[in-house]
Amino acid sequence: MEKTKYIFITGGVCSGLGKGIASASIGAILGSCGYKIFTLKLDPYLNIDPGTMSPYQHGEVYVTDDGAETDLDLGHYERFIDTNLSKLSNLTTGRVYAKVLKGERSGDYLGKTIQIIPHITNEIKAHIRKAAEESKADFLLIEIGGTVGDIEGEPYLEAARQFHREVGTDNVLFVHLTLLPFLMASGELKTKPTQASVRELYRRGIQPDIILARSDKQIDKESIQKIALFADVEEKAVIPAPTVSTIYEVPINFEKKNHISEIIFERFKMPVRKAKLEEWEKLVSRIKANHRQKIEIALVGKYNQNLDAYLSVVEALKSACYANNLSLNLVWINAAYLEKDDKQEWEKLKQCKGIVVPGGFGSRGVEGKIMAAKYAREYKMPYLGLCLGMQVATIEFARHVLNTQDVNSTEFNTKTKNPVIHILPGHHEAESKGGTLRLGSYPCVLDKDSLSFKAYGQTKIDERHRHRYEFNMDYKDVLEKAGFKIAGLSPDKRLVEIIELKSHPFFVASQFHPEFKSRPLRAHPLFRDFIKASNKV
Ligand code: GLN
Repeated sequence: MEKTKYIFITGGVCSGLGKGIASASIGAILGSCGYKIFTLKLDPYLNIDPGTMSPYQHGEVYVTDDGAETDLDLGHYERFIDTNLSKLSNLTTGRVYAKVLKGERSGDYLGKTIQIIPHITNEIKAHIRKAAEESKADFLLIEIGGTVGDIEGEPYLEAARQFHREVGTDNVLFVHLTLLPFLMASGELKTKPTQASVRELYRRGIQPDIILARSDKQIDKESIQKIALFADVEEKAVIPAPTVSTIYEVPINFEKKNHISEIIFERFKMPVRKAKLEEWEKLVSRIKANHRQKIEIALVGKYNQNLDAYLSVVEALKSACYANNLSLNLVWINAAYLEKDDKQEWEKLKQCKGIVVPGGFGSRGVEGKIMAAKYAREYKMPYLGLCLGMQVATIEFARHVLNTQDVNSTEFNTKTKNPVIHILPGHHEAESKGGTLRLGSYPCVLDKDSLSFKAYGQTKIDERHRHRYEFNMDYKDVLEKAGFKIAGLSPDKRLVEIIELKSHPFFVASQFHPEFKSRPLRAHPLFRDFIKASNKV
């Protein structure tokens, strides 16, 4: 008897409809009924993981506790479901093939011809089973990346079809997310693309149980009936998914207006449990309340054209604003423009109440970020540094104290006389295959006399990392004497995890990425206090 119920989520018509948010919302609803939820994102690309993909193309790389570099949708899942996911939560075609080909080289398939069906599909199904077994989830949500009909997605759809047959209809449900485009000229919503994409699913042996119909307009009853008829689903299982002003409204819309959990329970022949979404409702009304005062926060980055590149940082800032009863007015600042002394960019920065310098790799824009940290230090503007943001703050302070520009991270200048940020000797050597990043959750011990301790309210914390370079302990004493504070260290005291500046209202920068553990209903303490301090300026 299967313990886990499996919900596959596919997308139709086009990409960018918010399949991750739809899946995460279903997870949030079922989780609020008291069930254990786990999620799995199946990514059809050939990279082993998104770790090396450009944030321009792929958005942020989300890091789990166990150090997996994953798709940003995992961030949505963790934020909506409030559960810590793992390496098992993201599978790419590259990883599937790598495993099968490794098996082929070591003789696992001797005598056989290796084929997409059954070998690749078997590997996908084995991963789905493993995720269910290890997570012991009541519901496993499996999102298939891309759109039905994409060549890359075929093995996943085929694996889903086979999986359905193997574990039985009582244990598998298919949700299909589509789009109803609106034609201005005739003033109507069109259902034909949905019909066509459902037909594509049928051709692959998959019958959807629930259709989520995205649209920018109100969906009329007639369209719902038409989709139900053509897709052969019950009318109540065609759920309108209108564009909403905040993504946290999606679970409320699915459940309160359309009772999606009842459809799911009924389909799985499970007793109906009531979803408890009061906290989400409170959050949404707080977000929508227009009396909240706006606060201008500068995000000094280099991927400014792509909002997704800093997704978790932006979400963490928003949550911190909600917690302070404020509304975020995010001001994108291009670090490269600061570097070029662009007057307009500098003016924009100066108008802000606080500065965030997020993570990043490579030297482009680094000097601009250092200038932003300098401005925050000199003008006592609240500063929150995240990973690279901590490193640039350290470089900046050391340049000031040592009274020389020849201070850097060896990432940006291998020959610098003062490598205040460097690769810890011997630190990464044990790792193989070029995997030289410190990844995943590490403990940190906070100094009781620090803003960080005040924020967390405890000395021992665990936070997630994704970086190669570290603070150089040779500079500890000279910097500390000048007002630099090491507020958090690894338990063995070898690694600096948080720094602060004394005689500054709020200058806190962490080597880790606190944004990954911020939740909409539970703002991260560092972000929360940063916003609080910014609001006082
Ligand atoms: N590039 C820096 C390092 O590798 C910072 C990385 C980051 O900000 N995630 O250490």
